[in-house]
Amino acid sequence: MPDTPDTTQMPYQLPFPSDALPEIVISKAIPEDERIWVPQAENVWFRPLCLNRSQGYWVNLLRVRRSGVLSRHRHPQAVHGFVLRGRWHYLEHDWTAEEGSYVYEAPGETHTLVVPEDVKEMITLFQVNGVMCYVDPWGKVTGYEDVFTKIDMCGKHYADVGLGMEFVDSFIR
Ligand code: FE
Repeated sequence: MPDTPDTTQMPYQLPFPSDALPEIVISKAIPEDERIWVPQAENVWFRPLCLNRSQGYWVNLLRVRRSGVLSRHRHPQAVHGFVLRGRWHYLEHDWTAEEGSYVYEAPGETHTLVVPEDVKEMITLFQVNGVMCYVDPWGKVTGYEDVFTKIDMCGKHYADVGLGMEFVDSFIR
């Protein structure tokens, strides 16, 4: 039997599929450049990480300062969250998402995200799939966001702050 070479540390030897898109690598994903935070509402910002228009979802960091509120909305699809800083809760649930918590939100959730007064800054990574529908307390839809509205918001903001509308392109797949 000839010795077979040890390939444990050998990289994959073939080209990637020609249609495959490039990876996204963001060092310092919590940015030092304040312009990267896109204003969303009073005391609420987000920064895009992956705006996946080909599959209809987005991954972003949500930042809330000083008792900001992310208004009531319904998720027809799942959401994943990981709390990086601070803590928050939903008006509709009795638990609190603390720093270091992972949260799964099942399709059908409707909630209002609140950051308590004593938390100076909250940052959470969220993956949001499909659409989020803003609703009144009885479920009547008052607006929506999807990956395309997110891309638009980012493009306009980055043009305004001098990063250029095309800055958003690096997050789009
Ligand atoms: Fe939500």
